[in-house]
Amino acid sequence: MRIERMDIETTHVPLKRSFITALRVVNEAHFIILRLHGDDGSIGYGSAPPTAAITGETLSSIEGALRQHIGPAILGMDIGELDAILDRIDGAMPRNTSAKAAADMAVHDLFGKFFGFPLARYFGGATDSVETDITVSLRSPNEMGEEALEYQKRGYTAIKVKVGRDSLLDIERIRRVRAQIGPAVRLRIDANQGWKPKEAVRTIRALEDAGFNPEWVEQPVQAQDVEGLRFVTEHVGTPIMADEALFSPEDAFRLLEARAADLFNIKLMKCGGLRNARTIHAMAKARGIDCMVGCMIESRIGITAAAHFACGQTGILAADLDAIDLIQPEIFEGGVSLTGNRVVLPDGNGLGIG
Ligand SMILES: [Mg+2]
Repeated sequence: MRIERMDIETTHVPLKRSFITALRVVNEAHFIILRLHGDDGSIGYGSAPPTAAITGETLSSIEGALRQHIGPAILGMDIGELDAILDRIDGAMPRNTSAKAAADMAVHDLFGKFFGFPLARYFGGATDSVETDITVSLRSPNEMGEEALEYQKRGYTAIKVKVGRDSLLDIERIRRVRAQIGPAVRLRIDANQGWKPKEAVRTIRALEDAGFNPEWVEQPVQAQDVEGLRFVTEHVGTPIMADEALFSPEDAFRLLEARAADLFNIKLMKCGGLRNARTIHAMAKARGIDCMVGCMIESRIGITAAAHFACGQTGILAADLDAIDLIQPEIFEGGVSLTGNRVVLPDGNGLGIG
């Protein structure tokens, strides 16, 4: 089967409530939906949200990258040469990782549909669901405590809290959330680059001394500051997770060499798709670094691809695939569903969409 043509659609879905981090405020989720058509009539689905604050990409840059560079590089190729197609996607242009991720997942979807297996099975997986945490946006301590309590009541057993704007107030935010949810719920903290290295050490030690017991802290310092990240990792007891510092396999190599982080947050939109995600995971595994699978505020198509990745191999520590619960339901056939706090893979081959 050859990849015959592609079509691209933009869509938007309201969020249930505003999503606020140290980097941005999101009220409505926008996506590119990519369909790759095989010459046998099959369709591979991909998707990407514009996350300009993180990847530098916008709706029009994603669409332009797909139409002008990535699409032309792979149209006409045979789906049996999966790795060669993925090389073409990677090599089509520098960066533009979300556009590449959309193409990578659509190609994987076609591949799974053509050869007849769900992608998680192809990756080597034995499970068909994964537990997700849910994110509490950066607001006042009281509002954050209330929101966390609401999620706990809905059955979430791991809550991720956004901080990184005023470290003293951040400690108060965590205090309020911990007081509301009690000691049993796992508490993950994401500073989204909001602290300076020494400020991060001081703040994380204060959280440790207060007994708030964070499971880990994500990206405390600026993305480019690998030295600073290592400084924090070396000076606190709490595990430190790299997120914005980790896009490509090359970034993973640098972070591993520098021993800059204890954990990795892999997102398809940062690394350019499922193949690079698997490469990074394999590199991390070789060094004994555990990985979480994360997401942007993205479509159920993207969450479905991430869930196949999460269910498809051992050594995935956690899943942060909460976009499925942050946005209003989308209307298309298939994809993952949410049962309590578990993201459940669909039946069907490839991604299980369409
Ligand atoms: Mg993060």
